[in-house]
Amino acid sequence: MAVTEIKPYQTVNDQTCGWIHTIPPAPRFPCLEENKQVDWVIIGAGFTGLSAAYRIAELNPDDSIILLDAEQAGKGASSRNSGYIVDITLNDGGSTLADEQTQLAKSQLNRAGMDLLRQRVEQYNIPCDWDESGKFHCASDRRNIPKLKNFEGFLERAGLEHQVWRKDKLNERLGTSYYQHAVQTKSGILVNPAGLINGLVQNLPESVELYEQSPVLQIEQGEVIRLTTAKGSISADRVIVAVNALMPRNGFKANRVFPLTLTASMSRPLNPAEYESIGKPQPWGVLSASSMGATVRFTNDHRIMVRNTVEWWPSLTMNPDELTIRRQRNLSGLRRRFPDLTNLDFEYSWSGNVCISRNSKPVFEKATNNLFLAGCYNAGGIAMGSLFGKLIVDYALNHESNELTQVLNQEKPTIIPPRPFFDIGLQTRLAFNRFMGRAEA
Ligand SMILES: Cc1cc2nc3c(=O)[nH]c(=O)nc-3n(C[C@H](O)[C@H](O)[C@H](O)COP(=O)(O)OP(=O)(O)OC[C@H]3O[C@@H](n4cnc5c(N)ncnc54)[C@H](O)[C@@H]3O)c2cc1C
Repeated sequence: MAVTEIKPYQTVNDQTCGWIHTIPPAPRFPCLEENKQVDWVIIGAGFTGLSAAYRIAELNPDDSIILLDAEQAGKGASSRNSGYIVDITLNDGGSTLADEQTQLAKSQLNRAGMDLLRQRVEQYNIPCDWDESGKFHCASDRRNIPKLKNFEGFLERAGLEHQVWRKDKLNERLGTSYYQHAVQTKSGILVNPAGLINGLVQNLPESVELYEQSPVLQIEQGEVIRLTTAKGSISADRVIVAVNALMPRNGFKANRVFPLTLTASMSRPLNPAEYESIGKPQPWGVLSASSMGATVRFTNDHRIMVRNTVEWWPSLTMNPDELTIRRQRNLSGLRRRFPDLTNLDFEYSWSGNVCISRNSKPVFEKATNNLFLAGCYNAGGIAMGSLFGKLIVDYALNHESNELTQVLNQEKPTIIPPRPFFDIGLQTRLAFNRFMGRAEA
């Protein structure tokens, strides 16, 4: 019988995520302190795990389901991200016909995930500042404009709704003169991610029992899988592992995927004079033309969020001093864009982890007859994680669909070099990309 021993769980989430602080406090759920027997266990209560729970309840309403989270449900990357429900991405490339087809196929999956989320937001009336105004792909460095033009050509050929923005109109729309050029894709959605995931946690189907602060410490595989937590245990017929960036730490896919740690900061709301001084723009979301450039949001309540760091940070968490250093980098991104908002500072700074594979492919697989894995969305998992959570259940229950076939036919993540070669290679690559993208940070 295979036994996966997981290292003692170390808290990853800081308590300073701006999105979480701008929504009402979420109700808490108990820690698992019993021995239980159920049909399903889902490990990880983020977008993937929650979507899996909803899907099991939909297809097999009589099945018993336990959803476990090591910390507070939904308060990991699912609350800490930049809140773009992505329709289509720029940085995947898209220069050959084959690349474009891959990008389009991925976009169709993203849209399927987006539709699932839209349905739930409407059904449960989830307050999350859902905004269908799209997203701006921007360049501040003129050298990046050809990349945007290439993207524009791709959107044109694919018949995807978009708008090109030249400097003057763009500056007026965003309230900053920092950017030179933008392509706005019209079907992306902006949200407060903490509001969205919190709404999904609160409306979980009745057949789902949720336990928080209950990290799984050991998995004994067999016909029935036995999971051990610090104060309890569960025997389950089927288990879904939905821990994304924590896969390697939990003993899964350590030679195929790796986490990167990002930090973001969010300002207080602009006061009326400050808002007026930047031309009273509507809310917006900007993604950079450079993979190492800044992601910036202007929120419904007139806050500015900046995320412009990406690091290989094996501990996966940052202490207050480490966050203070990153906050300075976030602040210089804010100052470059809004030099006249001299009194505006950040109220919150936080870190979060994304899961990356070398070839940007996700994990979606049956590890054994009754143990399933879904994750590694390469920094775009709100829609994709929601879809994968649904499809991993369909896979377990042999519920066929075109989307499932498409996901099963995708390439798998390629092997990564062993450490310390991996660390050296990755640090060098990140430093190079950071240098190349410095004008967009
Ligand atoms: C700063 C930042 C910005 C981002 N921006 C975007 C964006 O704009 N758009 C987008 O689509 N994506 C974005 N992402 C990525 C997105 O947040 C993730 O892809 C998504 O949250 C993945 O969801 P998940 O449910 O798979 O994983 P997670 O949200 O990470 O959930 C996994 C859960 O597993 C739990 N867990 C781990 N180990 C155990 C264990 N042993 N036992 C029990 N539970 C365990 C964790 O506590 C966690 O709650 C961003 C991420 C970050 C960090």
